[in-house]
Amino acid sequence: MSDPTRPPAPRIIAIANQKGGVGKTTTAINLGAALARSEQRVMIVDLDPQGNASTGLGVDADDREITIYDLLLGDATPSEAARQTEVDNLFIVPATTDLSSADIELISNEKRSFLLHDALRQVAIDTLSLDYILIDCPPSLNLLTINALVAANSVLVPLQSEFFALEGLSQLMLTVREVRQSANPNLRIEGVALTMYDRRNNLALQVEEDARDNLGDLVFNTVIPRNVRLSEAPSFAMPVLDYDPSSRGAAAYKALAAELLERDH
Ligand code: ADP
Ligand code: MG
Repeated sequence: MSDPTRPPAPRIIAIANQKGGVGKTTTAINLGAALARSEQRVMIVDLDPQGNASTGLGVDADDREITIYDLLLGDATPSEAARQTEVDNLFIVPATTDLSSADIELISNEKRSFLLHDALRQVAIDTLSLDYILIDCPPSLNLLTINALVAANSVLVPLQSEFFALEGLSQLMLTVREVRQSANPNLRIEGVALTMYDRRNNLALQVEEDARDNLGDLVFNTVIPRNVRLSEAPSFAMPVLDYDPSSRGAAAYKALAAELLERDH
């Protein structure tokens, strides 16, 4: 029976693309910050052993005692692992390089794709009263990304506006289909966000046209421009909304958050 005193389950979105450098981490940090600014309680799960989302939100590498690794192995609860960031309502579960450890691979076959799913069970995260969980996936379709897809309600795909972008996408969609068949039948595509978009570049226009022709409404209206402020912000351990609120990058991620909120209601 549903309990009226219990907060509603958060929406879990995996930010995935097996290509590196397409804007997954930038999207996790800045969409997360923009949602948090819109009164949403947001937790970013850093699922990349490189830990870029953790660094970009100011959690230093030598200050990551409880990490996503502990959460996956059941050695910590989400409220123990979640860190408050400098941004109100924005939390992060940090990652360290030990996330690439083989132990996870060694867990018995049936369980190992469900580690994140089980760690984010609603009772486990109730006390955090979250509206959104954004999972920053590694640049690969490995077991970690499978864990994200099994745990998620939907997948948000950052697509860099460059040649071959759509070929990479079909591989990801195949994996999404496999996860639907095996473990998570309700997994949806939240949307495809064009990133590092440069209107002066004919190739970017072509990628956009192809994406909108092939994927229709799945492509967000908002496109994320190439904007140097977005690439500078992480070294100041800030989302771009704090680093340079008037930048085009900040405006774009605010617009993406607004579009997502509108779709979800
Ligand atoms: P991924 O997580 O997919 O590997 P990142 O988000 O880390 O990709 O982005 C790769 C690099 O590109 C980073 O240096 C980041 O700062 C930069 N970057 C990402 N999005 C943009 C953008 N819209 N404009 C300019 N630089 C960007
Ligand atoms: Mg990344």
